[in-house]
Amino acid sequence: MLLTGKQPAEQLYVGIDERVKSAAAVPGLFVLYDPEDKPAGWYLRSIQRAGEAHGIPVYARPLSEGTELLSELLGGMIVLSKTKSPIRIPDELDVDGTGKDSFSTLYKGGFKTYPRTTPCTAEACVRLLDYYGIPVSGKHAVILGRSLTVGRPLGMLLLDRNATVTLCHSKTENLPEICRQADILVCATGREGLVTKDCMRPGQTLINVGGDAAEEEAAAVVENLCPFKGGVGALTTAVLLQHVVDLTE
Ligand code: NAP
Repeated sequence: MLLTGKQPAEQLYVGIDERVKSAAAVPGLFVLYDPEDKPAGWYLRSIQRAGEAHGIPVYARPLSEGTELLSELLGGMIVLSKTKSPIRIPDELDVDGTGKDSFSTLYKGGFKTYPRTTPCTAEACVRLLDYYGIPVSGKHAVILGRSLTVGRPLGMLLLDRNATVTLCHSKTENLPEICRQADILVCATGREGLVTKDCMRPGQTLINVGGDAAEEEAAAVVENLCPFKGGVGALTTAVLLQHVVDLTE
């Protein structure tokens, strides 16, 4: 089965649209971005398009201009940059798991609905599995990448859903062998060509978050494939806007 992000995103937008319609004041989203970071630019445009389509104002400003004059801001804030930014996002504006309270929430787990501070890509991966009815409990999830934005939070979310989780990184030995053990294989390193057919086996669900996996090979081997293009990206944007709307409550 091909797992595309568009359908679960559309399902999420139905609820978002209803809540925007009935909200007394719709919060906006402030995006500070690095103009040199190409993927950040793509993500920003996707957020702007979705914000426009669903009545959520999106304000964008290059990182170099800083956060001054934002005191009147009502809404969420995110920073899109590959390099570490000195800007700290206050917990009350956090919609992507970068505020200081978000980690303890994530580590405690046990929530019935996703907190507004859940890192959006990680949440999108679990929502994708749920939407397509892929079982998680008791399954072995292998995640390639241990970043604070994708790998680690996803590990916590899947652990909370009773998966057995293995987090891999650049020092992991025997990567293909570990990958083949996965029921759910999440590729989030951004290293194109890292995950070839020797990492795959029939019956697996593979989510190609970072474009690491050879998709033609995957299509011939695995049971379910979430592609890089048309995959979790669209759902990540919807999750982000859902978190912004959560600020109204
Ligand atoms: P990141 O911060 O650069 O982290 C990359 C991770 O991959 C690190 O943990 C790194 O290990 C690991 N890694 C690098 N080379 C490896 C190797 N040869 N074997 C195993 N692990 C290796 O990146 P990120 O922010 O998590 O994002 C990951 C990718 O997903 C990027 O390509 C990004 O553009 C993409 N992404 C896509 C979406 C979407 O919605 N589609 C959203 C977010 C991110 P170390 O920790 O040891 O360095």
